[in-house]
Order: sequence, then C-alpha cells, then structure tokens
Amino acid sequence: MFVYSIPMRNRFRGITVREGVLLEGPRGWGEFCAFLDYSDAECVPWLACAVESAVDGWPAPVRTRIPVNCTVPVVSPERAYEIVVASGCTTAKVKVADPGAALSDDLERVAAVRDALGPSGALRVDANTAWDVDTAVRAIRELDRAAQGLEYVEQPCPSIEELAAVRRRVDVRIAADESIRRADDPLKVAVAGAADVAVIKVAPLGGVRRALEVAEACGLPCVVSSAVETSVGMAAGLALAGALPSLDFACGLGTLSLLDGDVASASLRPVDGWLPVPAGAPEPDRFAEFAADPATTRRWEERVDRVQAQSGAVRR
Ligand SMILES: [Mg+2]
Repeated sequence: MFVYSIPMRNRFRGITVREGVLLEGPRGWGEFCAFLDYSDAECVPWLACAVESAVDGWPAPVRTRIPVNCTVPVVSPERAYEIVVASGCTTAKVKVADPGAALSDDLERVAAVRDALGPSGALRVDANTAWDVDTAVRAIRELDRAAQGLEYVEQPCPSIEELAAVRRRVDVRIAADESIRRADDPLKVAVAGAADVAVIKVAPLGGVRRALEVAEACGLPCVVSSAVETSVGMAAGLALAGALPSLDFACGLGTLSLLDGDVASASLRPVDGWLPVPAGAPEPDRFAEFAADPATTRRWEERVDRVQAQSGAVRR
C-alpha cells in the first residue's frame, strides 16, 4: 500500500493537491482516492472499486478504445478555441454558469468552441447545479442557439425535481451528474424522468461490476466520468466504459491533465480524443516521485482501516 500526493494544475473542488492510496493485489493495482470531505461510510464503495481492480480484475470489454471529451474551463473565447483545437477531441464540455460570470460570456465561449469543433463536433455544457428552473430554461435556450445545437446540458439545477421540470420545458437533453453519487441515485433520476443521460463514476458506484449493474438498472445512456484519479484509478473508469453494452457519448476520462504528474509512466493521456481500454491498471513505476509525507501517509492508512471496518464486503 502506497500513499501518493500530486499537485493539481488548478484548484479543483477547492483542493490544490490530489491524494490517495495505491493498493497491490494478485491482479495488479487499485486506487482509493475518495475526496477528503467524504465520510467513512461514503468511502466504502470507493475502496471496493480499488479492491476489485487489485484482487478480482474486470469483466471483458466489448470495445478497445474510448472517445473522451476535452474540458473548457471559464476562459476567454480565444483560449477556449485553442484548448479545443489542441485537444484533438471531437467532443467538448464547456463549463458555464460560474459564480459571478455573465451568460453573455458563456455564449461567446460556447460560440468559439463551436467554431473550433466545426459543425460535426459535439458540444455539451456543464452548469454544476448553478441555476433555478426558470433561469435554466432561459439559459439553455440561448446556449443551444449559440452552440448551434447542444449535445446535452449537465446538471443545470441542484435537485432531481428541478432537473425533471427543466427537462419538460427544453428540447436539449439533460444529463445528471451531481444527482448521481450513490448506487441507488441513477434509478431515482430515471424514475423521476429527470434526465436523458446519466454521468457515472466507477469509484462511488463500487467498481466496474457494480456500476454495470447500476447502468443497466437505470436504463439511461451513460457517460463514464473520472473522479480525477491517477492512471491507476482511471484504468477502472476505462474498463467500465469498455464494458458498457452501448456507449453513445464521449466520456469524461481525459482528466489526467488536471494533475501535475502521474504515478505511472504508461500514463492514460488521450491521443486525438481517444484512450485505450487497458487490461489492467498500469504499474505505478513513478511512485517515488509522488510519495506522500509520513503524516499524510499515516492519515490515509488510518482512513483505509476505518473504511474497511465499515464494510464486511471488502476483504483484507
Ligand atoms: Mg459535471
């Protein structure tokens, strides 16, 4: 068991350093990196995902490579254009509705991204719960025009009920992201008619097998997204995307660029908008460069012990 600490290129979720644990088992490596604000009980599926990777391995994939989106943060239209062109991706996700930002800025940025993608590219926006229902309906209609067609809008409002209300009033697909954090959430979203697309993450759903069951049960098209793991944890997300019976949208697994380094030299960075589906997690051969200090290491070892104590399903 190794504890790593890697600086983030930009602040994300209020954190500037990504920390986690790498576990080795008979099938290779797994990563446990639940965010620090998660309770021990909430961490149980995250640890199960790491154990699946290290002990059980993953089900056979049905495809060999996964299309991924590039991500456009709150930047100028010129910078947004450059990011999309440099990525080589044909799908872009644009962050909108940032606190303090004007809709007119979002419209200009989205238009610049459409220019960069060309008419055949897919353009999605992510509002990260920022709007109320009426604001969402107005903004989505304008953004859809500026984008010359949105692929979907991710989490326009906080609650499932609001998502459902927005969805009834706009033609653009709604994707649920923040509404899906636990294994039973995607089913609630589907039953409420709150979304057309489910954004799923392998670790909070408890691993590849469990996430496949959840995806099937909810019956919505799924987009696999990362929790900003290193290449070790990212491999599990790719295994999930590789094993989903159908994959209609590019995945949010091109996030290694958010980290200022990686534990594996066989790093899972997209090339021309694609990532391979790996047979297992890559060997963390650069661990020494990113080893956490002794206090951080002890904190994570204690966390793993507490999470294990919460779960009878996780083997020691
Ligand atoms: Mg999102």
